[in-house]
Parts: sequence; C-alpha cells; structure tokens
Amino acid sequence: MTTDAVQLRSVTRRYGTGGMSVTALDQVSLTFPKGTFTAVMGPSGSGKSTLLQCAAGLDRPTSGLVTVGRTELTGLSETRLTLLRREHIGFVFQSFNLLPALTAEQNVALPLRLAGHRPSRARVHDVLQQVGLGGRTRHRPAEMSGGQQQRVALARALITRPDVLFGDEPTGALDSGTGREVLTLLRGMVDREGQTVIMVTHDPVAASYADRVVFLVDGRVNGELTGAGAEDIAARMTRLEARPC
Ligand code: ADP
Repeated sequence: MTTDAVQLRSVTRRYGTGGMSVTALDQVSLTFPKGTFTAVMGPSGSGKSTLLQCAAGLDRPTSGLVTVGRTELTGLSETRLTLLRREHIGFVFQSFNLLPALTAEQNVALPLRLAGHRPSRARVHDVLQQVGLGGRTRHRPAEMSGGQQQRVALARALITRPDVLFGDEPTGALDSGTGREVLTLLRGMVDREGQTVIMVTHDPVAASYADRVVFLVDGRVNGELTGAGAEDIAARMTRLEARPC
C-alpha cells in the first residue's frame, strides 16, 4: 500500500536542444504524502509551473519518473494519461476556466459527463455545499463574484474525488479576503477529507496554509519549511530572490 499521492524521482525537464536548451527541472525528487497540503514557491523561472505540469501528467519529463497513486506515468499513452487525469487529478487555476454558457451545477457536473457518467443531482449539490455554494447552483459564471467562481471551479475539481488536487496560483485573481476563504476551504478539505493538495503560489500568506513549503531555485529543490508562518516564508523568499545569479 502506498502512502504517497504523488512521487517525483529524479525528474528532469529540458526544453529545446543543444546550446539553446533550458533545464527547467534538474533531477527533482519529491514525495507528496496522501492527505497533506504542499505549497511550491520559488523565484520566477525557477521551474514551478513545469513541476506542476509534470506531476499532473500534462507534460512529460525528459528523464525521471512520476507516480500518481500507484500509476507510473512515464510509459502511459496519451489516451491513458488523459483518462488518469480525468479520474484521479483535479485542477484549479488562477483564471477559473469555467464555461460561461453553463450554470454552476452544469460546470461542476461536466467532468463526470465527459467521463461518460450521468452525475446525480445529489452528488453535484453535495460538492457545491462542500464549497459553501449551496444556494447559487443555477447561476452562470458572469452572475457570480470571483470568489464564487473559484468555488465552482473547486467543486468541479473535486466531483471526481481526485487523488490529488493541483492549484496553479488559485487565489492569484482574488482579493485577499476572498483568497483566504478559498484557502480555508482547501485547508478544511485536507484536514477533514484527507484530500492531497499541491499548490504553486508566490504569496507567502497563501503558502502559510500549507503543511509544507517546497522552494525551487533554478529547477532544483532548495529546501523546504514545515508548518511555517507567512513571515518566515516571506523572509526565505526574499533571500532566494536576492541571491547572486
Ligand atoms: P516558474 O513557473 O517558476 O516561473 P517555469 O516552469 O515556467 O518557471 O519555467 C522554468 C524555466 O523553463 C524558465 O527558464 C522558462 O523560461 C523555461 N521554459 C518554460 N516553459 C518553456 C517552454 N515551453 N519552452 C522553452 N522554455 C520554457
């Protein structure tokens, strides 16, 4: 039995070839235990997005292994990878990526419909309740605030009961109060439901909601902090950003 939701073993991702190549990730090894909340931070260009894309099966490493649950991604065909993402992985992005023509409940039901299931209304309503949106299920995205739209996106990501939820700056487009509400929801899902969350952020306050913060510099892991507050995280980031190139 595995207790890790996601594992990266010596993952390298290089873009381009020869003299023009860029090593976005350089032999990164990380484990993300089930039921934990990890934030990934680092200066711009340090490899955060590439890490998320490789860990989520959206991009393929040049070398190394990525395991989600018990499935090793390297050898999977595009079709198998798509199925794995659909059934085992949830995403929330900075821009909520909701379909404007669909109501909240239709947006939330979409991943199950795409997987060929007919979602029960009860399940859709349960997950909308879980994100605190019981009352606005018939509204379209344009009729909702940013915070409400991100809650719908969160419900959509959770409807498949994913093994891991990835967030790419999920509070980046929200004001700080609304952002905190969304982070509190994520924290609650980890604590109450045992959800695994991996979130890229540049915001030390957002990162302070995580159990652990992993720092990347130049595509390599440059240490981590456990249970740190926003001030300690901000101080670490300031040091990393001030380092000589
Ligand atoms: P971050 O998310 O920390 O800003 P990225 O993962 O986006 O960092 O990028 C890491 C490095 O890889 C950067 O030097 C970036 O320019 C480079 N990179 C990212 N994506 C590509 C790409 N598609 N083609 C070429 N270089 C890329």
